[in-house]
Amino acid sequence: DKIRGATEGDGRTVFSFEFFPPKTEDGVENLFERMDRMVAHSPAFCDITWGAGGSTADLTLDIANRMQNMICVETMMHLTCTNMPVEKIDHALDTIKANGIQNVLALRGDPPHGQDKFVQVAGGFACALDLVQHIRAKYGDYFGITVAGYPEAHPDMIQEDGGATLEAYNSDLAYLKRKVDAGADLIITQLFYDTDNFLKFVNDCCQIGINCPIVPGIMPINNYKGFLRMTGFCKTKIPSEITAALEPIKDNEEAVRAYGIHLGTEMCRKILAHGIKTLHLYTLNMEKSALAILMNLGLIEESKVSRSLPWRRPANIFRV
Ligand code: FAD
Repeated sequence: DKIRGATEGDGRTVFSFEFFPPKTEDGVENLFERMDRMVAHSPAFCDITWGAGGSTADLTLDIANRMQNMICVETMMHLTCTNMPVEKIDHALDTIKANGIQNVLALRGDPPHGQDKFVQVAGGFACALDLVQHIRAKYGDYFGITVAGYPEAHPDMIQEDGGATLEAYNSDLAYLKRKVDAGADLIITQLFYDTDNFLKFVNDCCQIGINCPIVPGIMPINNYKGFLRMTGFCKTKIPSEITAALEPIKDNEEAVRAYGIHLGTEMCRKILAHGIKTLHLYTLNMEKSALAILMNLGLIEESKVSRSLPWRRPANIFRV
């Protein structure tokens, strides 16, 4: 089924988990075990990323197939245009269609490792809009199409001293509307830590006539270095209170993770209080923080979560 239905649903709050293809065979098998445990909590869907530059194409296709047909969770596969002539794109779409997968996250993609600018390949597409148009033209309504949205504007638009100009932000928003008008039916956002800014983005989208659901992408802070790397890469704004909270605990991994759970829970509470009904969790292939946040929100049953997980200890001061 298409995931948009699940995100609109019957007014219930739903959630989803994102995974990426591991580098080793053991890693892949571990991921399936973890996925199996996480899917027991009934996410609306799960998705699997497409390695930058098509580097994981075969593995992503294989994992997506197993997710849909063996783990039995509604699956969305990411697909990027980078290094992808149309034949390769169609091969990927034909393969998932043959496996009963009905959901695609259509992306331009980042440049492959070692390059700093996206370059269109001969016979390929220039941007996600081209990909959305192609999928609708060739596959009609078979696929539910999700696209990426950027509450702080796409990183290419963000200046050295932080933030995008109003003009760049508005142009990014107008382009997002073109992706939706071309046939996308759901938006998942880039990670963010400024919840008020995300809510403003939702409002701004609404003002220009973007009417599809906008799902917040939540990335729990799991470790300090990873957080700095990811927010640096995505040029994410970090509110000063988060920097202040992390600074004294940055060398204590367990405290950082506990704070990440606390922060993720508070962010989700605020988002849900504004009427948004779907939460998308960037798991980074880890289960503890994502499940702890959902448990704090009352969205999964505590009794179903493994007793061995460290954050269940009563001493966890950030448990809310
Ligand atoms: P586009 O929608 O094409 O936009 C890119 C930029 O170009 C925007 O700033 C847009 O405003 C501008 N632009 C493009 N065309 C026009 C136009 N005609 N007019 C005006 N402006 C234009 N990367 C991966 O490699 N694999 C993944 O699996 C993956 N998953 C992701 C999942 C999510 C939810 C998100 C938010 C990002 C993901 N990415 C992934 C990263 C993504 O590929 C990069 O952010 C990439 O740089 C842009 O992709 P896009 O689809 O947003 O591009």
